[in-house]
Amino acid sequence: NKQVILKHFANGGPKESDMVVKTSSISLKVEPGSNAVVIKNLYLSCDPMMGNRMKNLGIPGLTYTVESPLEGFGVAKVVASGHPEFKKGDLVWGAVGWEEYSLIKNTQSLFKIHHTDVPLSYYTGILGMPGITAWAGFYELAAPKKGENVYISAASGAVGQLVGQFAKLMGCYVVGSAGSKEKVEILKNKFGFDDAFNYKEEQDLDAALKRCFPEGIDIYFENVGGKMLDAVLLNMRLHGRITACGMISQYNLSQTEGVHNMMNIVFKRIQMKGFFATDYFPEYAKFLDVVLPLIREGKVVYLEDIAEGLETAPAALVGLFTGRNVGKQVVAVSKE
Ligand code: NDP
Repeated sequence: NKQVILKHFANGGPKESDMVVKTSSISLKVEPGSNAVVIKNLYLSCDPMMGNRMKNLGIPGLTYTVESPLEGFGVAKVVASGHPEFKKGDLVWGAVGWEEYSLIKNTQSLFKIHHTDVPLSYYTGILGMPGITAWAGFYELAAPKKGENVYISAASGAVGQLVGQFAKLMGCYVVGSAGSKEKVEILKNKFGFDDAFNYKEEQDLDAALKRCFPEGIDIYFENVGGKMLDAVLLNMRLHGRITACGMISQYNLSQTEGVHNMMNIVFKRIQMKGFFATDYFPEYAKFLDVVLPLIREGKVVYLEDIAEGLETAPAALVGLFTGRNVGKQVVAVSKE
C-alpha cells in the first residue's frame, strides 16, 4: 500500500521534503459487523488547510501524526465492508488517507456517490468540500442580492471559481483576482467574471480595487487575508458583508500580518463572518439538488488541475502555496 507519509512537522510552509512516499502492507479484509470499510482511493483533493495540519500546532484531530500518512478528502471505491450500509463496489467521497487503500473505521465521514453522469473527480471539488464551501459561504453567509458588487480573491481556485459563477447567476457584478495573466484570462473568458486583475502585478491594491469598483464592494469573499483584506476594507460599501473563508497568504508566516483598516468595519457597519465547510455537511443533499442541475445544464463549469499518480501528491500539495495549480488541484491515484 503506497502512502504519502509525513516525515517530520513542516516548519513555515509545507515542503516536498517534509513528505515521503513509502510502501507498507494493509489487509484488504474486514470483519463482518465491524462497521469498518476498506476503500481504494481514486482521487485525492489537495486543500490549503492540509499545510496547517502538517505543522506542529498540537491541535487534536487536526495536526497530522509524524510517520503516518496525510489525510484529506478523496473519492474512493469500497473494496471490503463490515458495515451494513456500504457494500463492495460502492463509490464514496469523504475523509480518506493519502494512500492507495485506506481502512476507514469512522464511516460517518464518508458520503455515498449516487450520481456518476458527472466526472468522479468532481467529488473532490465542485461536488465535494470546496463546492459546499462556495455554496454556503456565498448564499448562506453573504446574503447576496441581484445587482450587488462582489469581489473574490484567489478567484481561479477550487472555491473561488464557483463563488464567481454563483454570483454571476444571481445577477451580480463580479470581479476576481488571481496570481497570473493566464488565470486572469480564465476568470474573464471561462468563468464569465465581469473583470479580473493579477494582484502580483498591482503596485497598489487599493487603487486596483477602486478601478474595478468605483462605487465600492458589497460582498467580499475572502480567501487570502493580509494586505488584500486591508485594501478591501477601504473599498467596502455601507452594510457590506465579508465571508471569511480562508487567509492563505497568512498560513505560512511565523507571525501573521497586521490589518490596519479594521475601523471600517464599524464605520461602514460591515458584517464579517467565518465558517467551516464541515458546518454545512449535514446540508449536503440540499446542496446537491442545487449544484447538480447547474452542472448538467452547463450553467456552471469547473476547472480541474489533475496530477497523475500518488508520487506527484507532495508537489501538488506544495504547489497550492505558490499558485502552481490552475483550478482545483486533484491527484489521480487510480482509474478504477
Ligand atoms: P485554491 O485552489 O484557490 O488554491 C490556492 C490558491 O491560493 C493558489 O492557487 C494561489 O492562487 C493562491 N495563493 C497562494 N498563496 C497566496 C498568497 N500568499 N497570496 C494570495 N494568493 C495566494 O484553494 P481553495 O480554493 O481550495 O481554497 C481557497 C481558500 O479557501 C483558502 O484560503 C482555503 O484555506 C479556504 N478554504 C476554507 C474552507 C473553510 O471551510 N472555511 C474550505 C476550503 C477552503 P494565485 O495564483 O491566484 O495566487
